[in-house]
Amino acid sequence: MRTPVIAGNWKMNLLPAQAAALVEELKPLCAAANCDVVLCAPYVNLPAAMAAAAGSNIKIGAQNCHWATGGAFTGEVSADMLKAIGVEYAITGHSERRTLFGDTNETVRDRSRAALDAGLTVILCVGEVLQERQQGITYEVVRLQTKVALEGVSAEELQRVIIAYEPVWAIGTGLTATAEQANEANKWIRDCVAELYGQVAADALVVQYGGSMNAANAAELLAQPDVDGGLIGGASLKAADFAAIVNAA
Ligand code: PEP
Repeated sequence: MRTPVIAGNWKMNLLPAQAAALVEELKPLCAAANCDVVLCAPYVNLPAAMAAAAGSNIKIGAQNCHWATGGAFTGEVSADMLKAIGVEYAITGHSERRTLFGDTNETVRDRSRAALDAGLTVILCVGEVLQERQQGITYEVVRLQTKVALEGVSAEELQRVIIAYEPVWAIGTGLTATAEQANEANKWIRDCVAELYGQVAADALVVQYGGSMNAANAAELLAQPDVDGGLIGGASLKAADFAAIVNAA
């Protein structure tokens, strides 16, 4: 049995006091969750979010990390820095990082490597753009992204990897993959991981769905056998909506 993980991705939203207030609002609403709950905040909001979440079942994550442990990388933040302040998770390979900030499969692999080395749990995002779905190459795309990102990741480290299938055409668009499409792609990812690490490891892997998941569609998506939670953007900014997804899991 896999424990589902519902993770919020706040993106570049909220000031620190607003982040703390949202965590405070969520704490009682998520207290009875049957899943792991993670909120991924902008770097500067991490201390406020962690302070507010202390003593609750809400964990805090970052939305990215650099691949180096330190050095001449102006404006960047290392995984070690995140770990040092008590952050537990880092998203890598989010499609907005890939499309807007030049992340490639190789830099996503290197960021994930750094996060694992620092002791963080990685939420690795993979997913096809609309043209790739229309071309019928979703299977190939998610396998390639998964395989490259996992290069050099040991079976032991895989236990600190969550994969989020996020079809890019569904992120922030209001378009959601059907429950069948989500389950099919999540299964492809799990099968790919089974080829690399064996079925036992693949069966233990949490594979989330992300892309316009909301309070209304969460239950159907989360009921799919290969959908082990969600990565939630827009709906994670509203306490009632996010809590409804958490409580649907
Ligand atoms: C995301 O940012 O990972 C995401 C899934 O966003 P949204 O839920 O807004 O589509």
